[in-house]
Amino acid sequence: NQRIIFNEMPHGLPNPKTSLIVDNTLSIDLDNVPLEGGILVKALAFSLDPYMRNRMRPVDIQGDIDAFPLGETITGFSVAVVLRSETPLIQAGQYVYGFMHYQRYSVIPSIDANALGMKGLSLQVLDNKYNLPWRYYVGILGMSGQTAYYGLKDISNPKPGETLYISAACGAVGHLVVQLAKAQGLKVIASCGSDQKVSLVKSLGADHVFNYKTADTAAELKAHGPIDIYFDLVGGPTLEAAINNLACNARLVICGMISQYNLGTNEAYGIRNLWLLNRYRAKMQGLVVIDWADKYLDEFHDTVPRDLAAGKLKYLEHVYHGMDRVGEALVDLLVGNNIGKSVLVLEDD
Ligand code: NDP
Repeated sequence: NQRIIFNEMPHGLPNPKTSLIVDNTLSIDLDNVPLEGGILVKALAFSLDPYMRNRMRPVDIQGDIDAFPLGETITGFSVAVVLRSETPLIQAGQYVYGFMHYQRYSVIPSIDANALGMKGLSLQVLDNKYNLPWRYYVGILGMSGQTAYYGLKDISNPKPGETLYISAACGAVGHLVVQLAKAQGLKVIASCGSDQKVSLVKSLGADHVFNYKTADTAAELKAHGPIDIYFDLVGGPTLEAAINNLACNARLVICGMISQYNLGTNEAYGIRNLWLLNRYRAKMQGLVVIDWADKYLDEFHDTVPRDLAAGKLKYLEHVYHGMDRVGEALVDLLVGNNIGKSVLVLEDD
């Protein structure tokens, strides 16, 4: 039973060859493995996400989410097909999405109605009524898409004609924020890390897009702002530049700080201009995707797959085939070599 294990503690950027590795030593008897009232699933695709870097730390150091224990199978968002079931709630042949072990076959014991009803981290049985590829459920139809949707819907509180700035705009969350914001009548300023990404984000409808590696972010925001909504995916100097260019009553969605994830504790960028939040009467709020599922997941499932199937939304994804590409794929994501959502595909559907 192939699985991905956390093999080496990184200092700075993880080593793509040794930090996450594939282990083939476990075997599983698919016909007889006990299910304990649960299900046996075969994984089809795994999500690759920046927060995984935060989990690659010693278990005794507290974080937002549990650390990966060294030598053990990593976990994350996965889509899988059910091979056997001992619960009336799920049938063999159905597809499920949720937090699982990153291994080819997994037993998920004791599924109860309560767990299925909780929309945060629990397993969801997928209906896929628009017949989209199953792997989309670890991307635009999963946690990444939901992050964009919830953050724009609620914390941003957008009004048509307002200006939104989104960083990491060609990534998994960012490229959906761009499109949802345009659909709601906002002016969108976007930044990303290459000229190829700039062209792609422009093609998604953003009004002004710049390459933050070659342009001066503060000058771009000054010229095209002020900003009513900043959807922050990167933190650091970009957040500081955004705060310098806010409109009165601005909202800041603090969603991610990828520019800081590979730094040591003493290297973190210190934001120097927080007092401007007072001058601009601005609100800054943290977004954690799972908090909003109870309120918006049904609405998300009613609208985003429909709009994707109708071609109203475009999906950029960066697909890696095979578990052995996990280390390379994670590092690509952390340094910006990915275009759109990074997905590890085990089996195409
Ligand atoms: P992406 O697909 O956007 O990939 C990460 C991107 O970050 C890279 O492609 C790169 O793009 C950019 N990046 C890397 N280093 C830097 C840097 N130093 N400065 C600026 N940009 C950088 O990832 P996701 O869409 O999955 O995640 C985006 C952010 O949202 C992350 O911070 C993540 O942790 C956060 N997040 C938070 C969630 C929550 O619930 N709070 C849920 C999901 C994601 P480029 O080429 O443009 O530099």
